[in-house]
Amino acid sequence: MNVAFTSDNIAGASDSVLAAIVKAAQGNAMPYGNDEGTVQVTNMLADLFECEVDVFLVSTGTAANVLSLSAMTPQWGNVFCHQESHLLNDESSAPEFFTGGARLVGLGGANAKIDPLQLRKAATQKIGDVHTCQPGALSLSQVTEVGSVYSLEEIKALTDIAKEVGIATHMDGARFANALVALKCSPAEMTWKAGIDIVSFGATKNGVMAAEAIVVFNRELVKNLDVLRKRGGHLHSKMRLLSSQMAAYLTDELWLKNAMHANEMMALMQDGLCGIPEIKINTPAQANMLFCTLPDGMEDYLKSKGFAFYGGRWESGVVRLVTSFRTLKEDVEAFVESARRFNTLAAKQSRI
Ligand SMILES: *Cc1c(COP(=O)(O)O)cnc(C)c1O
Repeated sequence: MNVAFTSDNIAGASDSVLAAIVKAAQGNAMPYGNDEGTVQVTNMLADLFECEVDVFLVSTGTAANVLSLSAMTPQWGNVFCHQESHLLNDESSAPEFFTGGARLVGLGGANAKIDPLQLRKAATQKIGDVHTCQPGALSLSQVTEVGSVYSLEEIKALTDIAKEVGIATHMDGARFANALVALKCSPAEMTWKAGIDIVSFGATKNGVMAAEAIVVFNRELVKNLDVLRKRGGHLHSKMRLLSSQMAAYLTDELWLKNAMHANEMMALMQDGLCGIPEIKINTPAQANMLFCTLPDGMEDYLKSKGFAFYGGRWESGVVRLVTSFRTLKEDVEAFVESARRFNTLAAKQSRI
């Protein structure tokens, strides 16, 4: 197989997760989440976040995001997000469908982080005007879509504005663990202590087969998710198979170990690429994703050497590299070495 830095969801699942599914599949258990394993996952997440939480397991990140939003915003609300967000660009019209027609508003801001000034402006205009979409919810991605990470202060600045206008804040944590490891803070600090009301706690990209947890901190603002999940077709009857994945993910800090590995591999990659002057780092990687601009011909050269990654989707030369819990150090080193070799070859050719 190719050496691939295409995405973190090209990797399979951690062995202990798969073993846990096999074990959970033995014998009988009550359906629809009325089993011991599912209760256990809620308790584990309550411990992890150091507070009482409601937990709703679903099997895709899109479902976690759009169900969360559907519990937060009125149908006539604006959902503020970044213009680069997965929510806006990569979830088809699921947000509109699940919220019953709420409007996504894509805001700007450097490094795919929402600019607080733009949020304030958009969220405070024409309040109470029946002709205008009213503030409905705020959603931010941690890690962002370009591989940057909001600091705790940056999260707080945004959630403060949301609180001022009386809307709830959602965190799209498809790469929650990678962000947490980057910030070296506690899960509580990165979420409810910074004003987050609900999080899509991603696990699929970081070692499980298919399970994500919607974790609700603010039960006042975020309601009816039990019904909304059923209505949205994500109340799995064999919930124990999802719960078993999440329990294994949280056991012995597998989730942190996996993310630490992915982030370390990206740090190694970034260090190596930084040493090649012809390569431009577009957004410094803080977690496990890097956007950079390669010189003419390098992308094709690297692909011809068997490396897979996304390019050709953005401005000319811009590529995305993602490492995962399964990425091998040798593969990162081989990639960097090939990039270096391309440069040497190109330099020689230009001298001829
Ligand atoms: C991958 C991802 C998701 C979830 O996507 P699914 O394909 O629905 O599982 C959500 N948000 C972000 C930022 C992602 O990268």
